[in-house]
Amino acid sequence: MHRTLEDLRTYRPEPGVPWALLDATIIDGTGGPAFGPAHVVILDGRISRVLARHDALAGLADGDYSARYPDEVAPEHRFSLEGMHLLPGFIDAHAHIGAPDQVESTDYVFKLWLGHGITRVREVGSLGIGFGRMAEAARRSAAGELAAPIIHPYLTFGREDVAPPPRTGDEARAWVRAAREHGALGVKFFGAAPELMRAALAECRALDMGSACHHSQQTSPRANALQTARWGLGSIEHSYGQAEAMYADRVLPAVPAEFNYSDEAMRFREAGSLWVQGARPSDSQWGDFLDELVGLGTTLVPTFAVYNAARDAERARNREWVREYVSPRLARFFTPCAHRHGSFFADWTTEDEVLWKEQYRIWMRFVRDFALRGGRVCAGSDPGFIHSHYGFSFVDELELLREAGFQPLEVIRAATLHAAELLGIDGETGSIEAGKSADLVLVGENPLRNLKTLSGVGHYSMDEGGAVVRRGGVEIAVVAGRVVDARRALREAREFVAACAEA
Ligand SMILES: [Zn+2]
Repeated sequence: MHRTLEDLRTYRPEPGVPWALLDATIIDGTGGPAFGPAHVVILDGRISRVLARHDALAGLADGDYSARYPDEVAPEHRFSLEGMHLLPGFIDAHAHIGAPDQVESTDYVFKLWLGHGITRVREVGSLGIGFGRMAEAARRSAAGELAAPIIHPYLTFGREDVAPPPRTGDEARAWVRAAREHGALGVKFFGAAPELMRAALAECRALDMGSACHHSQQTSPRANALQTARWGLGSIEHSYGQAEAMYADRVLPAVPAEFNYSDEAMRFREAGSLWVQGARPSDSQWGDFLDELVGLGTTLVPTFAVYNAARDAERARNREWVREYVSPRLARFFTPCAHRHGSFFADWTTEDEVLWKEQYRIWMRFVRDFALRGGRVCAGSDPGFIHSHYGFSFVDELELLREAGFQPLEVIRAATLHAAELLGIDGETGSIEAGKSADLVLVGENPLRNLKTLSGVGHYSMDEGGAVVRRGGVEIAVVAGRVVDARRALREAREFVAACAEA
């Protein structure tokens, strides 16, 4: 008799002892269709074997699939998961662990991530916290000493806690080397003076470090996404810098005479017009830019989820997870305020939302066309800003990629294998294959049918008796072979929010 899902929740694998997840349907992250029932054997944090009926039929494995359970695994280490789906651990390609003015505790953030099956994050910038603290969290997460996804830290270019802010190309290169010595795996830019950014990107390449850029409205006129991609940029974040690289009838975006970039509300209101002012698919600039971008190997991390509130601010304020899962400090951070980044939804009008809806139509078409030409797109949620929430908004991002035209299997790949490629660790993780790290997500519903079932609040539904129920949610996350009860992680996040509210 095999053990059950409930047994798996508290299972602690032992060194040198193989264990197995049996009879699940596997969505392996490569883009190939689901298959099963199949078995995954794990030993010392790695997937040692994947047994599937189609391999037996193809003669790649023992032909007798009726004697199919992996004999190297003792019965007490086998877990029967019939009817469930197993995926590679999700990778949020644009994440922040949260600064002290956003969240009361990073453990709360980690629980929300693990509760949504996020087993790795690309932490872009280490914003608002000292890098020493980030490097320590990254080290402990990789060593399994911290109940958290494995953190891949990027440092914001020019920070003075790394090295003196660079003024020359040589100093920019030296800054990147110092960031590397501090343990950064990549550099996050908000744009920079062209000669500094060009030198820093060259150094990132030379050191095999990642690079990501938020092409701010302020810096884009000197270095838009096409220029930085030519300098070797790894990934283009958000909606900025791209439309600006292919205007058909202007060189710079038009802004009102009174526009002031330091005014957050004005900044985001105008940001909604960047694509609307820009080229359309029928313009030659559109295809030329896409072809060059794809040819350069640049990745897009659109983070659709973080601007989604601009299409419907009332909905964003009242999502079903807000009451139980948004902590008091984060709720306060989201409240409109001139001093907090992205908290600008006061007097947000019909006209603003219509503009952003139009912007999304054009922007999504661009991202889709980029993928159709062979470009890599990854899922990033940019949590902690503009009503984007840890874990929950990662599921939003998957739905938004679907809305942009990605097929469900493409969406899952954007969240797994393609993100691993972006991080340069696709030999290590990102798909369910023998030899890779055991980074896995176990769910009760088929996410290809309905991505909403991945949300921590599940999918609003009805049972056979006609009662309203919530279906779905992640059951188990496996991080480098360590089993995490995802439901428990979410329960603890809820309890933390309740305790903060009482205090
Ligand atoms: Zn961000």
